Amino acid sequence: MISDIKILFHQGKQYIPDVTTAEVPGIFRGRPVISTEPADVARLVEICPTGAISTGPVSIDMGKCVFCGECQFAYPGKIRFTKDFKISSASREGLIVPEGRDVPVTVNPALIRKEIRKLFGKSLKLRQVSAGGDNSCEWELNAAGNVNFDMGRFGIEFVASPRHADGIVITGPITKNMARPLQICYDAVPHPKVIILAGTDAISGGIFAGSNALDRSFLDKYPVDLYIPGNPVHPLTFINGVLDLIRNRK
Ligand code: SF4
Repeated sequence: MISDIKILFHQGKQYIPDVTTAEVPGIFRGRPVISTEPADVARLVEICPTGAISTGPVSIDMGKCVFCGECQFAYPGKIRFTKDFKISSASREGLIVPEGRDVPVTVNPALIRKEIRKLFGKSLKLRQVSAGGDNSCEWELNAAGNVNFDMGRFGIEFVASPRHADGIVITGPITKNMARPLQICYDAVPHPKVIILAGTDAISGGIFAGSNALDRSFLDKYPVDLYIPGNPVHPLTFINGVLDLIRNRK
C-alpha cells in the first residue's frame, strides 16, 4: 500500500489539466501566419506538394496542407507556422488562412446544427472509419483517449460499433475499396449523425487528391459537421475541435 502511494506520488498527474492552454513541446506546425512582405509567389505555389497555397492574396488552405514546412523553409519571412493547435472549423472555407491574418481559427456556432449541442453536449460516442488511412491520424486519435489527453473525461469516446455511435470520424482519403464500408457504417449510425473529417487526407485527399484509387462521392451526399486539419491530426486539435462542436465554451 505504502509503495503504491509512493509510485503514485512519484508519477504525479499524468493528465493534461487544461487541454485548451497546453503547450505542445518540440517541433509542431499548427496555424500558419502569412506576412504581407513581398515574396516570389509563383515559386511558393510551385514548392507546395498539395496545391495548398493560392495567390491573390496569398493564402494557405489547411485542408490541403500536409504541414511539411517546405514553404516556411524557403520563405521564412513570408510564412511561419505557429504552435496554435486549435485549427478546426465547421466550414471548409474556415480552413483557409489569408496573408496578413493572425487570429485564432474558431468553430462558428452559427454553422453547427442545433441538435448537436442539445443532444451531445455532455456525451459524444464516435465510430472511427479509416478510409484508406495510413495509420498516422488513427494513431493520434487513439492517443486522444490515453491517460495524458484523456478525452473520455469530456464524455467523448470511440466505440466499437456504429450502432452505439452518435457519429463517425473519417480518416484517410477515402479509397474506392473503403467507399462502400464507409457508407455501410454511416447507414448503421442512428440519427442525427455527426460527420467529422480528421486530417488532410480526409478533408481534401491530401497528396492522393485526384487519384483514380479514390472514391470521395460520400462527401457529396452528406454535410460535414467538423473539419479537423493536421497531417496527422494532433490529439489536442481533435479534442478542442470536438469540444467546440458540442459545447459552448465562451
Ligand atoms: S507546409 Fe503546407 S502550405 Fe507549406 S509547402 Fe507544405 S503543404 Fe504546402
